[in-house]
Amino acid sequence: MLKAERYRHFVEYFSKNQPNPVTELHYNNPFQLLVAVILSAQCTDKRINQVTPALFERFPDVASLAASNAEEIFPYIRSVSYPNNKAKHLAGMGKMLMDIFNGEVPSKIEELQKLPGVGRKTANVIASVVFDAPAIAVDTHVFRVANRIGLTTRARTPLAVEKQLTEYLPQNTLGVAHHWLILHGRYICVARSPKCEICPLTWFCKYYQQHNTETALQKAEALKIRKTKDAKKKKMLNTISKELARRSVDKDI
Ligand code: SF4
Repeated sequence: MLKAERYRHFVEYFSKNQPNPVTELHYNNPFQLLVAVILSAQCTDKRINQVTPALFERFPDVASLAASNAEEIFPYIRSVSYPNNKAKHLAGMGKMLMDIFNGEVPSKIEELQKLPGVGRKTANVIASVVFDAPAIAVDTHVFRVANRIGLTTRARTPLAVEKQLTEYLPQNTLGVAHHWLILHGRYICVARSPKCEICPLTWFCKYYQQHNTETALQKAEALKIRKTKDAKKKKMLNTISKELARRSVDKDI
């Protein structure tokens, strides 16, 4: 199947079945989304949603965050991953928003990336979700699922994945495609063992096709048989060597 066809099937399927996907992070304004996305690096959305209500109550706006420091922020985020670094980032981010951006979250990706704790992924999320910019953020789910489906080829870095997705996806789907891939990766195409048996994308998924052709199934079966034979052989050799050792002890006695 041609790559362009895969993209077409991917967009058609999700446009029809998941036309309005949204982030699972809870937020009420751009400032809160920015804070939540910074916190969500290497952490689950569920955990972030547990800490943000108290955090947003104590720091309801940019000004209150800018007036604080990492020590004050830390207790509110101690249960997320890397709380020390993230507390420093949030304090620095608040100050920079006040000092350079008049207390507003900037809309440009380059400007967002100047903020402490904001890398390209976070900047793309904010730009696309808040400002409708044609940008796709690549996290671990997007990276893995795009590669498995066959939307990307030989893309070794998040930036390479972003470039390929941006090249092939229709511009007006870039923002939603990010959520499609994340949600699919979180619930079906999971990292260790993708749930292909319940996945609706098998008929155009490259990974599925590579692992479920007649030859692939035969190879997997042959490997299983060989492993069973090897295990039996090892067990038999163990028994023989134990028996030989026993006999030599008996002889010495
Ligand atoms: S068929 Fe399997 S590998 Fe392909 S997208 Fe679905 S779950 Fe992932």
